[in-house]
Amino acid sequence: MGAPFVIRIDHARVFDGERVLDDVSVLVDTGRVTAVTPTAQAAAGPAAATAAEVIDATGHTLLPGLIDGHTHVMGTLHNLRLALTFGVTTEVDLFSFPADLTGWLCDTAAHRDDLADLRSAGTVICATGGHPAATMPFLPSLDGPAAAGDQVRLRQKEGAHVVKMMLDDGCHHGAELPTLDSATAAAVADAARSAGLPSVAHVADVETVRTALDAGVDAVTHVPLEAPLPQEAVDRAVAEGRYFIPTLAMMEMSCGAPGGRDLAADERIAGHLPADALSALTGGTEGLCVTVPSPELDFANALETTRRLHASGVPLVAGTDANNAPGRACPVVHGAALHRELELLVTAGLSPVEALRAATATPARLFGLSDRGRIAPGLRADLVLVEGDATTDITATRAVRRVWRRGVSFDREAARAAWQSAAPPAPVAGSDPAGVATAVGGAELTAVGSTALAVAASRAAESGRPDRLFQDPVAVQVAVAAGGALAAWSGPRGELLRRAMGDYFALRTRFFDDWLHEAVTAGCRQVVVLAAGLDARAFRLDWPAPVRVFEIDRADVLTFKDKIITGRVPLSGSERIPVTCDLRDDWPGALRERGFDPGLPTAWLVEGIMVYLTEEEGDGLLARLGALSAPASRIAVEYGSRAMFRTDNTRTALDATAESDTLHTLAALWRNESTTDPLARLAAHGWTATTREPADLAAEHGRPTPPAFDPRQPGTARITLLSGRRHTSPGPG
Ligand code: SAM
Repeated sequence: MGAPFVIRIDHARVFDGERVLDDVSVLVDTGRVTAVTPTAQAAAGPAAATAAEVIDATGHTLLPGLIDGHTHVMGTLHNLRLALTFGVTTEVDLFSFPADLTGWLCDTAAHRDDLADLRSAGTVICATGGHPAATMPFLPSLDGPAAAGDQVRLRQKEGAHVVKMMLDDGCHHGAELPTLDSATAAAVADAARSAGLPSVAHVADVETVRTALDAGVDAVTHVPLEAPLPQEAVDRAVAEGRYFIPTLAMMEMSCGAPGGRDLAADERIAGHLPADALSALTGGTEGLCVTVPSPELDFANALETTRRLHASGVPLVAGTDANNAPGRACPVVHGAALHRELELLVTAGLSPVEALRAATATPARLFGLSDRGRIAPGLRADLVLVEGDATTDITATRAVRRVWRRGVSFDREAARAAWQSAAPPAPVAGSDPAGVATAVGGAELTAVGSTALAVAASRAAESGRPDRLFQDPVAVQVAVAAGGALAAWSGPRGELLRRAMGDYFALRTRFFDDWLHEAVTAGCRQVVVLAAGLDARAFRLDWPAPVRVFEIDRADVLTFKDKIITGRVPLSGSERIPVTCDLRDDWPGALRERGFDPGLPTAWLVEGIMVYLTEEEGDGLLARLGALSAPASRIAVEYGSRAMFRTDNTRTALDATAESDTLHTLAALWRNESTTDPLARLAAHGWTATTREPADLAAEHGRPTPPAFDPRQPGTARITLLSGRRHTSPGPG
């Protein structure tokens, strides 16, 4: 429900979504527009007396709330507040993941008038191994028309408002990837039509625009950069009633064309941007349509295509492809970028009124938003008041003075003050010398810290499988919000390791999940995850009883993790207590300081760490945790050593690969040279344990044996998973 009071806006120049009306009075009652009349008549009418707020809008233009027809919400409500600040009252997100998070964002945005409303395509439909599944292997994908209907029905069941498909062979990203062929794209578009959902195709070039038109999609998003779209394709789009969402603000930034970043010099924009968004706008390079620039890619071609489309009568929708977020430095920024998009549409030949239509009535029509996009009696009072005449000078839209969502006034000044008093901006994401992003939002990972990404990459992949052993929201968010960070492990450099490990990380994760469940059921109410990395158990396990989960890792990893989870990943009934400490320092002291009670039984999880410690450091760790272990405590350990790099298979693989391969990274970091039997080693530290081998776990879950640990193959390595109980009482603590 909107605000239960009446507002009257007098003397406005009104653009009602289609036409310009002069000196008009708009009456809003309980969230809806109830009258649009000449001001002189309104003043004399009965409603005049009931208005709780009367605004003299002389010298201003009143617009329908703006609709950005192409964004990515990036898992955070923050972006919807940013959008609303700039008068964007509805965003159409064209790819968000996972579905339950998207659903939550849409539901939340539907009810909160301090956020832009959200419509979403949910998960994008793409080719197997194509863009973006190549870097997000957990995404469902298609390798032919047969399953198109199922995919669209699944999207509909998940609550998608629009179907988005990718037609992109990765040419702008230095890759040659499979993409949906026209038969498959047509099957997706048909299924969307049957489901009553509009379909939008992401295109990369002239050829994929043709595929999109052949497929019969409702709308095409992006425009070619290598050449203008030939007139014959434009004519076809008109004849067949297609829409285009050119995303000029994104195409301009992607080409490195001057202009887009100038928004930062306009106080009307910059003055309302939080610091992270401002630094993304001035210096960010993430999330662009082109990551491998080429002289052939010319923004002038994008403008020319847009000009041709408009001149021929193809309806255009203003969309930005904004995909920044705190910690993700995309220079196309939610809310602000729409004002650049409007300006660029005018540069491409639209009049200011036509550009405004592209951000109001036209997207409302394309996306079936019949309650908005215009100012008319009965429609939502999503309104923007800007100073000046935006119907003749499009840049006047930047001078936002008031924003109402469902008749509720948004306090832009309070939002600005909140942003200004927040923590200082994080620097933009960085890259290691090999070109792999290892930093997000200023949290830069050390080499050993970045190994947490290897596990996250495979957990993200596992999370997308229909037969998954778990779903890991942290790993998925790393992939979605900071996908570049995973590149070393999920891209070609990690292929050898991925092949060798097979499903090992998933099997290991599930083994320890089940063990933790059992340990907590048996009475451990404290869990300590040593070298926690991007571990998501505090967020995703269905705990049998309330637990406190202590996560120990070094500052780089925990700061990185914080950037990923904040505002994106909710806890699952546990109390999570991060403990920043090196395991070679006084971590028991740090643990106690954070509330750990050595008198209570504890479940110790030692996963993915022993191999990074020397024998002496490993013994020190086991001795110290033993001293903190009350009777009935439990332990689970993954035990591997450098011997894994001495097998014939690994030696051959290392010799055959470049130094930049991630296998070499691991070889340089693994330090455990111990030859002691792991069971004996645990026994010496006071634990009675049993072991499981990866091959047994694989058989238990019907998965192939991880090739690196397949005892049937000659020259493979051994890694052991142990779980044990305390058999001695704690020593001096
Ligand atoms: N246990 C986590 C998992 O399975 O997802 C992370 C495993 S990751 C392969 C290794 C982790 O060990 C990284 O997060 C790294 O920061 C941490 N690590 C390595 N040496 C460490 C040390 N001396 N002190 C604290 N953490 C350390």
